[in-house]
Amino acid sequence: MTFARELLGLLVPVECAGCGLDDVAWCAACADRLAGGLWRCEDRVPRLDRMDGSGPLPVWTLADCTGPVRRAVVAWKDRGRFDLTRPFVAALADAAPGLSSDVVAGPLLVVPSPSTGAARRRRGGNLVDALATGVADGLALGGVVAAAAPVLVRTRGHDQVGLGARARTRNLAGHVRVPTRHVARLAGRRVLVVDDVLTTGATIAACRSALERAGAQVVGAVTLASTPGPWAAPRLPRAQSTG
Ligand SMILES: [Zn+2]
Repeated sequence: MTFARELLGLLVPVECAGCGLDDVAWCAACADRLAGGLWRCEDRVPRLDRMDGSGPLPVWTLADCTGPVRRAVVAWKDRGRFDLTRPFVAALADAAPGLSSDVVAGPLLVVPSPSTGAARRRRGGNLVDALATGVADGLALGGVVAAAAPVLVRTRGHDQVGLGARARTRNLAGHVRVPTRHVARLAGRRVLVVDDVLTTGATIAACRSALERAGAQVVGAVTLASTPGPWAAPRLPRAQSTG
C-alpha cells in the first residue's frame, strides 16, 4: 500500500488538497480543522426560519468554509479529489455523537441533499450520500438507531454553482422532491438532513419542504462546512485545550 502510494507519487505529484503541502493528500493540520466537533450555524442564513414562529431549523457544522477547508471542498466536488471522501466521512462520523440530545432522542433517518443528474454524472454519484452514511454510522456507533436514506431527488433546475441566494431559492423551488416510492418510508419519521456546505440555506430549506410534504419530521441538518456570510464574523479555530 505504502509502496503503491510512493510509486503513484512519482507519477502524479500528491499535495494536500487544503494547503498544498507536498506528498500528502490531506495533511494533519488541515484534518484538524474538521476535528473540533459540531457547532450550530443556522444563524448565518436567513432562510431556515420556521413559518410557525418556533425558531429556525438547527444546523450543525464542522468548520468555516474558508481557506484550506474551502479549497479542499472545491477540489473534492469539482476537481476530482474523491480521495477526500474518506477523511470527510470520518470527520462527520467522529463528530455525529455530539449532536444535541433532543436530536438523537429517537430513531433517525439521515437524508442526503440530492444533486442534479448532471452533477452526479460529472462526479460519478452524489458525493453527499457518503457524508450522510458517515453521519448515520457515527450515530449508530454512539448507540442511536440511525440509517442513511437517500430518498430525495433533484429534478430539472440547474447546478447551484455561481448563483446568488435569491436565484438559488428560485432554482430549487419545486425541483427537490421525494419520489412516490419513498413516501411511505418517510411518514411520521424523524429526519436529519445532510449537505456538504451551508451557503444560503436554500438547499436545506428545499430538502426540508419536500420531506415535510412527505410527512417526515425534520429535526435538524448537518453540514461539513458553513460559509460565513458578510454579516457574520468567521469562527476562530478552537483554542487548544489546556486541561
Ligand atoms: Zn493541508
